[in-house]
This record gives sequence, structure tokens and C-alpha cells, in this order.
Amino acid sequence: MSKLRFKVLKEASLREAVKVEKPSKLPSELFESQVFTRDTMRKYIDADVLESLFEAIDKGKPIGRELASAVANGMKKWAVELGATHYTHWFQPLTGGTAEKHDAFINKEPNGKALEEFTGKLLYQQEPDASSFPSGGIRNTFEARGYTAWDPSSPVFVVGDTLCIPTVFVAYTGEALDYKAPLLRSISVINKAATDVCKYFDRNVSRVYSYLGWEQEYFLVDEALYAARPDLMLTGRTLMGHTSAKNQQLEDHYFGSIPERVLNFMTELEIEALKLGIPVKTRHNEVAPNQFELAPIYEECNLANDHNLLLMSLMEKIARKHHFRVLLHEKPFAGVNGSGKHNNWSIGTNTGVNLLSPGKNAAANLQFVTFLVNILMAVHKHNALLKASISSASNAHRLGANEAPPAIVSVFLGTQITETLDKLEKATTDEAIFLNAKKEMKLNVGNIPEILLDNTDRNRTSPFAFTGNRFEFRAVGSSANCGAAMLALNAVVANQLITFKKEVDAMLNKGEAKESALFTVIKKYIKESKNIRYDGNGYSDEWKSKAEKRGLDCETSVPKIFDAYITPETIKMFSNTHVLTKKELESRCEVKWETYTKKIQIEARVLGDLVVNHIVPVANRYQSFLLDNVVKMREVFGKESENLTEQDRSIIRQIAEHTSTIIAKVDEMVEARKVANKIDSEREKAIAYHDKIVPLLDEIRTHVDKLELVVDDEMWALPKYRELLFIR
Ligand code: ADP
Ligand code: MG
Repeated sequence: MSKLRFKVLKEASLREAVKVEKPSKLPSELFESQVFTRDTMRKYIDADVLESLFEAIDKGKPIGRELASAVANGMKKWAVELGATHYTHWFQPLTGGTAEKHDAFINKEPNGKALEEFTGKLLYQQEPDASSFPSGGIRNTFEARGYTAWDPSSPVFVVGDTLCIPTVFVAYTGEALDYKAPLLRSISVINKAATDVCKYFDRNVSRVYSYLGWEQEYFLVDEALYAARPDLMLTGRTLMGHTSAKNQQLEDHYFGSIPERVLNFMTELEIEALKLGIPVKTRHNEVAPNQFELAPIYEECNLANDHNLLLMSLMEKIARKHHFRVLLHEKPFAGVNGSGKHNNWSIGTNTGVNLLSPGKNAAANLQFVTFLVNILMAVHKHNALLKASISSASNAHRLGANEAPPAIVSVFLGTQITETLDKLEKATTDEAIFLNAKKEMKLNVGNIPEILLDNTDRNRTSPFAFTGNRFEFRAVGSSANCGAAMLALNAVVANQLITFKKEVDAMLNKGEAKESALFTVIKKYIKESKNIRYDGNGYSDEWKSKAEKRGLDCETSVPKIFDAYITPETIKMFSNTHVLTKKELESRCEVKWETYTKKIQIEARVLGDLVVNHIVPVANRYQSFLLDNVVKMREVFGKESENLTEQDRSIIRQIAEHTSTIIAKVDEMVEARKVANKIDSEREKAIAYHDKIVPLLDEIRTHVDKLELVVDDEMWALPKYRELLFIR
């Protein structure tokens, strides 16, 4: 083992668990202690001011300057008491992650005295010097600057010495430059569209919420090992590394107990998350070695997404304290499972009804079936867009690349729901629906239990699975902003519900009875959306060819998958729902292509450097050591030595072949990059990177990994998979 590698491994394997002070308070007492909740607000802000504020938030009305000033004052008082000296507008640029610029509360009065100041204006709006954030051409003129604006529907919180204010990031011309602004629009449009449809069943419904419960998967790696792998540091994943003889075959990690070092990290993470109002609930090992998962209790979509982003940055910070690095990349290691972020999504009413939950008895299920079938229609029509919404250079390693699952969106419903839909498809209105004594419409068909008690009726190979009272969008990447997927999902479902209502109302206007109108449209939708339903093995090759025949989007090239953002159907759907304009879609697409190119470009450079500086020199050194041996053997044993050095000579040949191929391929990759970089169109450039450079990355890696197997372990400088994955 090389001296450096030995040192690093020793450091990592001898590392003691970092102790965590158990707080004296119960988790429920810690919860939201750093959040400016409604209850806390009551202590710092006048009651009449609060009433107007809550009304504005609940009804989505604008908040005036005066109101903002009164709120800002109370906010500052609370934050300063918690030790805050700074504030920041916290936003979600299209690069992913979050961004913030800190300003101090301190200000100088005209009389020269200093004091802590925070005004409504500062709370309300800021102009970050954000010219370096991508805007896909929207902000390329001087006039079109961007600003951040307070999102009062997500509470402010204190991290360390800073008051953080969740904000949207928009251009002065009104276009969204972030994920939050369109997510909020999508939440508002699905509220309106779903409420309208609910009114067919219950006039008391006045609001529909969309909910998100994410499950975050991640890897942990010791910081010493991480620092010895420049590829992990610079790209978030290993660009080389031969599979460890043992990886996840035994699935022993999944069932194993959580190691102490990791448990301490998780404990501290949970404590800090709870203080910030993130209702963390579940923690466990995942399938791959050193892979873990954390999930909170679900919340309203906007808040849940803020909490996920907050958690990701918290994880990184706390991991460092425990001498770990957290890997949020979708595929840090080849050959073992990648990480996703399962987005559990549902919609529910202000009357407390989960619209995706089958009723207490079969009969009460017409409303449930109405929403379910509309969702099927929406996902069917826009399966390509939903795929685009979760696609990225890094998530491509999980979806549609060499490993399963394929990049195809389909819906799993399970046998019971499928049977019900099949029966409805064949039934007449009279057979399907009856009116009870209270004139409520009831479903006559099928027996849908309240929850899917049978956990075996779950399909882990489906990217979009019904799990009893929600859908689980499993294709979302572990490093992604959930907002991209959620805003697309909310928008397509809202758009579908609007269409549904139009169709039903048209029949009502012609004098058709309500139950018959509803059922006619539902039945039509069941037929039309059939192709999106797939309960089989989503990882099988059989499914790939089936899906193609069904007309589902099967594109595997990420830059081409992004085209789905700017098809006429997508543009129409998003403008219909007012979630994104054509201009916004075009600019988003530009950013996606540009980001794709940059990610691959960085990987190509890092791999090129590593190969030239680390791999080839080591291989050459071992090669000359062997050559030396062969020559000396001949000196001593003459012709007889040929038999004795056969293996050495074979290894010399292998090394020579691999290194010369690697050098040639690296040169080829440099040339391919030069050609691609000259392309003006972001789309064509990304396609060139996908078609020409990605295959070279894979090819070079194959040769490097073969070298790793033959070169003397003592010389190999980079920590190997077996070390990265099994040392904690
Ligand atoms: P599993 O791994 O079996 O899918 P988990 O307990 O890990 O289950 O995660 C389930 C996630 O689904 C949690 O985040 C939970 O809050 C969320 N969830 C549960 N019910 C709903 C619902 N009605 N809407 C949205 N999310 C939900
Ligand atoms: Mg799950």
C-alpha cells in the first residue's frame, strides 16, 4: 500500500466517534425553537397586525409595506434574542442548492450611534449581486436585474448567527429565476383546480393543499479518504474504482445496526433539524454499504421543499463535525445502489380529506377515483415532461444509463385499484354509481380497502407508484431540488383537472345528470390513460420494448430529454396554468443544457488529470519494476527464464496496452471537447458532450479499473472501493 494511502486509511479506521451532547429537552420541546412560528409571532407582534398578516398568507394576498415593517420589527427582536446579528434572503437558484448573502443588522444613525436595524423594506425585497446565477438569457441585459422577495408562507428561522428569510428569486421583468416562484404558482393553481372539482362532491371544500413527504438517501465517507480522492472532491462521484469483492450482495448493510460514528452524526443532525422545524421521523441504513436514509413527516409542499434544502445544507455542515463527508450525488460509486429522493405526494382538503385515500367503504370512493384517474391522465399525457423534471447529468447514472431502472415514467397502481378501474371501464353508469338517501354519489363497483395493508403489493421498480394514500415519485435524484419535480406534477394535474371540469360542465349544460356526466368522463379517461399503467418489473428489458410500443417517452439522452420542457404541449400546459411562461421555459432549458455540459466538462478534466498524474505514472513504475525483474532473470537463468517470468511478461503487456489506450483516449477526449466547446447552441453542445465525451469517460474508466487489478497494491495511491465503502 502506498505510504499516503496507508496513512489515510489508518487515520480513517482509527477515528473515534464524536460525542454528541444529548439536550436536556425532549425532541417535542426542541421542535421549532429556532423558527418564527405563528405562536412565537404572537409574543413579538401586535395582535391586529398578525391578523392581517395571517389573512394575507392564508388567502395568498399581497402584504403591504406597512404590515411588513411591523412584522420585521418583531422578527428582528426575536432573532436578536436568539443571538442573530445578521440576516439573509435565502433562495433557490437554478444551479440547485440554495444561495444566501448575509447582511448585518447593525446600522449607524445620523447622530453617529450604532444600533440593530431591520426594516419592512429589507424583509420584503433585496437585490442580490447575483449576476453569476444562471438565468438562461433572461437577465443578460443590464435592465433585467434580479431581486429576491419574501415568501411569507414559509416561516423565517435562525441558523447560527443569521436570520434566514425564505424568498423567491425573480427578474425585474417578472420572470422566475428559481424553483420556488413556479412551485408556489403550481400550488396555487392545483388548489383552485382541485377545489373546483371537489365541489361536485362536497360544497364545503374551499381549499386543497398539495403535500410532500421526501425520503433523502445519502452516503457517508470518512473525510481522510474523501480528501485522498480528488474525483469525489471535485465531481461528487468516483470517476474510477474497481468494484469491491464484497459490496451489497449480502444486503447485510440494510439489516445491520447503524455504526456508532454514524449514529452520533444522525443524532446531532436530528437535533438541529428539529430546532429548525424539520419534523424528522425515520432513519435507517440503505442497501449499499455506507448508504443511509432520513425521512420526515410530510408537510405542505412548499415548506417541505424548503425543509429538504435546509436539511441538505445542515447535513453537510454536521457531517464535517463528525469527520465525515456526505455524498448527495445520485451515483457516487458504480456497481452499488445510487441515491434517490423519493417524493411522496398527495393532495388534501381543508375539510381534512386526503383525496388520494380510498374512503372508509367502497361506496364512498367516487371522489377518490375521480382524482386518481385525472392523475393517471396527467402523468400519461406529460410523462416526457415529468421525466425531464427529474433528469440531470448526475441522475442519469441512476436512470436510463447502463443500470436499471430505465428512463421511462409509468404508474404502478397495485392489483386492487387496477381491478376497480377495469370493472369501471366495462360498467354502465347505473351499474357503477348510485345515489344514497342523502343524494350523495356512491361507487357501486370494487372493493378498495382503506389502506393497502398488503405491503407485498408494492412495486419498488416503478418510478411513480401508488402506495395506498399517496403517490411515490421515486425517480427524483438525491441532490435535486424537489421543487422541479413537484411544480411539474402539480401543474400537469391541475391542468388535467381544469380540462376534466370543462368536459363535465359541458355535459351538465346539455342537461346530463351529474353522476352520469362524471362517470362518462372518468370512463373515457380510464381508457385513454391505460398505457401509463404498468405493474410489472420496471427494470426488465421486456418493459423497455413494451413501453416503446405504447408510445411512452423512452429517450435516454439527458440533453434530448430536456426538449420535453419546450414542446408545444408543455408550453401550452404551463401557460394555461400560469406556472411558467414560454420565455421562462426556454431559459430554464438553456440552464439545464448548460449545467449538463459543465458537469461533464468538469468530470472529463478531472479524469484526464488523474489519469496523467496518478494512474499512468504508477502503472509505469510497476511496469519498469517488472521489466527489471525480467531482464535480471534472463541475466541469471538465460533462456530458462522465459518460463519463469511468463506471468510478469503478461502483466507488462497488459499494463502497456491499458496505459497506451488510456493516453490515446484522453487525447481523443481533449480533442472532442475542443470541438464541442466551439458549438454555439447550448442544446447541441450538451448533445455533443453526451454523445462524444460521456462514452470516452466510461471507456477510460474501464482501462483504469483493469490497471487497478494488476498494479501492485503497494503502489496504488488512491483509496480503493473496498476502503471507501467499508471503512467508517
Ligand atoms: P417507505 O420507505 O416505506 O416508503 P417511509 O416511512 O420511509 O416509507 O417514508 C414515507 C414517507 O411518506 C414519509 O416522508 C411520510 O411522511 C410520507 N407520507 C406519508 N403519508 C403521506 C401523504 N398522505 N402525503 C405525502 N406524503 C406522505
Ligand atoms: Mg418510500
